[in-house]
Amino acid sequence: MTADPVRDVVIVGGGTAGWMAASALIKALGNKITVTLIESDEIGTVGVGEATIPPIMFFNKLLGLDENEFVRETNATFKLGIDFVDWRRLGHRYFHNFGLLGAEIRNGTGFIQYWLRSIAGNASADPSTFSAETLAAAQGLFGRAGRDNSGLPNINYAFHFDASTYAAFLRRYSERRGVVRREGKVVGVEQDGESGNITFVTMADGRRIKGDLFFDCSGFRGLLIGETLGSDYESWNHWLLNDRAIAVPCERTEQTTPYTRVTARKAGWQWRIPLQHRIGNGHVFADSFIKEDEARDILLANVDGKPLADPRTLRFTPGRRRRCWVKNCIAMGLSSGFLEPLESTSIHLIQVAVMKLIAFFPDRRFDPIVVDRYNDEMNLLLEAIRDFLIAHYHVTERDDSDYWNYLRTMEIPTSLADKLELFRTRGETLPGPNELFSEISWFAILWGQGIRPTGYHPVADAMPQDDLNLTLDRIRAAIQQRVAGLPMHDDYIRQNCASA
Ligand code: FAD
Repeated sequence: MTADPVRDVVIVGGGTAGWMAASALIKALGNKITVTLIESDEIGTVGVGEATIPPIMFFNKLLGLDENEFVRETNATFKLGIDFVDWRRLGHRYFHNFGLLGAEIRNGTGFIQYWLRSIAGNASADPSTFSAETLAAAQGLFGRAGRDNSGLPNINYAFHFDASTYAAFLRRYSERRGVVRREGKVVGVEQDGESGNITFVTMADGRRIKGDLFFDCSGFRGLLIGETLGSDYESWNHWLLNDRAIAVPCERTEQTTPYTRVTARKAGWQWRIPLQHRIGNGHVFADSFIKEDEARDILLANVDGKPLADPRTLRFTPGRRRRCWVKNCIAMGLSSGFLEPLESTSIHLIQVAVMKLIAFFPDRRFDPIVVDRYNDEMNLLLEAIRDFLIAHYHVTERDDSDYWNYLRTMEIPTSLADKLELFRTRGETLPGPNELFSEISWFAILWGQGIRPTGYHPVADAMPQDDLNLTLDRIRAAIQQRVAGLPMHDDYIRQNCASA
């Protein structure tokens, strides 16, 4: 039992970040703390953010959510990975699959290394027959589990969902468990003269809300973390050129695909995210390389359903808050930084931030060792995601615009240069413990973008050739069997997630 416990938590902001933080805190610490969330209907939320990655399942499990209910309430579809179109060169595509590639081979190195040995330098070899998620996605199939007893893990998946209904869903969850919502605008912040800690936020109607610990979930503005506490924003715009997005929801047209599609354009890329009731589309682009009107025209010329609303432009600076936790305030969501949604990492970063905060939950002394450790870990995580994103642009053969020529030839962070060098020579990237993307994800991107390793791990040579052939044949057959017989994605949703 700590001597000086945090009792009152105040969350400023009710977008995805605010309600994710509120729901997780009330679930984990509800009998120890009060949670008040302030949001302004007038300001509203950013209202995009529709694709996720598999670890969101852990968040849903923490909350104890029924997944079918969650899919139903948020108009969600299932996501098996991302279809990358025109990234390596025009006319080329590859798939970044969730889940494993192949299967675990208990001989000291990973499946990829055995596969690299097996293809004997064949540059056009295709690893996709070893990914159940890729095979299922290509046929529009989905099921949570396989139907065989091969020992392979279950199909790995995430969701596409409607961000505003997700926030509403979490709001209902949180309020039922005691989170108090205050509607209105925060116009002032009071700080303790000695420590500098935030003590109250003041609302436009004069209400003062007291807290021991504050969460800044106020969106791009960073009301507390930036404007009050002065944590600098570090721009990564010289590596990640995109700083605008135009989003437009469209009518649903056909069977929903169980994957996100991202298509590279001359100065950016376009997303296509299928939900049950509509398709989310957007064009993320670099303002210094293309005019907004042209970016909008490209978007509207490449959507496959009728637009349901006027296109909306969002501006952002790619980068991060140097310190997300300052004194008694922690920034989560857009107030803590933003990396473009190419690999759907923002909602995941909110999840990590809130889970880590629960793990590091402070008392009112706000021990600098705890605060520094939190900031260091979040920074490492973000830098590794930044490198992963940069790799998508830098490793390309595209030379059809100034944008691609800049990205292909620019100087990259040393941390990424080292990874690319390792991959070129050994076919591995050795992600560290604080990294989100695994060896399999790095392989999907770097192989997909065209790098062909010249070597592989020496342990892969230890297996006799016949054993290797048999092992790979067995794994390939088990994966094919796993996918055969899966239902169509829409049928699966209808049968499992529809209202009772
Ligand atoms: P917001 O949604 O902006 O919420 C801010 C909240 O603060 C609002 O409730 C607002 O009312 C409140 N507020 C602000 N100022 C005040 C004040 N003075 N007083 C009271 N309340 C205040 N993420 C993904 O994971 N996957 C994706 O596919 C994805 N796509 C994206 C596409 C684009 C173009 C953009 C810009 C982002 C995308 N994201 C994606 C990111 C995702 O949308 C955000 O991370 C997520 O919505 C969290 O936003 P937020 O809650 O931090 O901010």
